[in-house]
Amino acid sequence: MYIIMLGAPGSGKGTIGNEICDKFNLVHLATGDIFRDEMKRQTELGKKAEEYISKGNLVPDEVTIAMVEGKLDKLENVLLDGFPRTIPQAEALDKYLESKGKKITAVINLDVPDKDIITRTSSRVICSNKECGASYNTVFMPPKVEGICDRCGSPLTKRKDDNPETIKERLDVYHQNTEPLIEYYTNKGLLESIKINIYSETTKEDTTNEAVKRINNRK
Ligand SMILES: [Zn+2]
Repeated sequence: MYIIMLGAPGSGKGTIGNEICDKFNLVHLATGDIFRDEMKRQTELGKKAEEYISKGNLVPDEVTIAMVEGKLDKLENVLLDGFPRTIPQAEALDKYLESKGKKITAVINLDVPDKDIITRTSSRVICSNKECGASYNTVFMPPKVEGICDRCGSPLTKRKDDNPETIKERLDVYHQNTEPLIEYYTNKGLLESIKINIYSETTKEDTTNEAVKRINNRK
């Protein structure tokens, strides 16, 4: 089974992706992790990727594709997170899977309004104790005592880039990159968009159950 996960930064994509992996016994393949792993092991591709990343540039499609295919070669049941990010990557993935007689099961798109993501992310606070790393939300999941971590008692702080302007910029970039992919997978009849309203009672379980139901319908 091959599931592709789409969702803006702050949409809960990582969390829901993990839940889906648990339900279907999938390997969670996040592009960021693959990059870090290849760079740490100093593979040929890792060195290439490092060249671009260290200069603050995007890793070219052919390097990313080669890395992902290298991982996919060893796996049967995968949830892809952060790949494909461009149409050439999506086309390369189709070609690759076709050559193996495989195909994508579903593309799960978490559809959260930008303004909700901005509210949620800009009200996020994290524990200043790096070993704890607990995360809270002053609107949706406040700590018991304001500004203090429930778990370890350390002061809570905000991430520098969790401010509305930076989040908005991140979201704009995300939409620019992702719109073509949404169209691509819609045309292939693979897109499963799940609308999430963070102000209603939509819980992590609700979203996971909905995604599981949609995937089961396509198996
Ligand atoms: Zn803490």
